Amino acid sequence: MHVLVSNDDGIQAPGLLALAQAMLPFGKVTVVAPDENQSATGHKKTLERPLRVRRLKDYLTGVEAYSVNGSPSDCVAVALLGYIKDHVDLVVSGINRGPNMAQDVTYSGTVSVALESAIFGLPAVAFSLDDRSPDADYSSAAEVAHRVVAEFCENPFPRMTILNVNIPRGRIKGWKATRQGVREYRDRLDERLDPRGQPYYWIGGEEPIGDVNEVDTDLWAVHNGYVSLTPIHLDLTAHNIVSNIAAWKLEL
Ligand code: MN
Repeated sequence: MHVLVSNDDGIQAPGLLALAQAMLPFGKVTVVAPDENQSATGHKKTLERPLRVRRLKDYLTGVEAYSVNGSPSDCVAVALLGYIKDHVDLVVSGINRGPNMAQDVTYSGTVSVALESAIFGLPAVAFSLDDRSPDADYSSAAEVAHRVVAEFCENPFPRMTILNVNIPRGRIKGWKATRQGVREYRDRLDERLDPRGQPYYWIGGEEPIGDVNEVDTDLWAVHNGYVSLTPIHLDLTAHNIVSNIAAWKLEL
């Protein structure tokens, strides 16, 4: 099996290296990741400027590694549109520094790697660790990634469906099949003045929280020490609303 590994934290991220190592027992591993941190860039596609690919020497023994000066989904597109000549069987993303749960998945470059891969018709899994500290330990998360991928390969998903995995920090109690919970963001707009007296803006604020009491959600599982496994579909249609709209008296 040939596994393509990418992320949104950038080619230097320790979680990427841990994930690439965890995939080695499955066969051939190729890493294509952004040259810089691209967290919270979502499913961005670069169309207005050139993309450059750089091959890294000595990334990890037995692994070809490349950086791209683009977004996480650009990395997948560059690889799968022909830069990587060998057929890819599976794409994995992460291990992200910080969780990607609830509405986070719409911001997440980590999840977007998997979504972009699904558009290419490939099975894909995104991994995130609920720990943003610079010295976070990715070793147990990497072990989780190895076991989840082994099981995922035995139980393939339908097309356009990916698996989003969030791993708690510290001792892992087990795992739960989950749905997306509801995040509460506490973003705040900071207005400051630059040295020339012109205002600039910074989106800041405290870490997002969310309803950890809603059972069977990703937020609930990780809060309680369980690995959260959420299937995510690229079809964002609110299917239960379609018939409501069909009954509108709209005249066009
Ligand atoms: Mn990230």
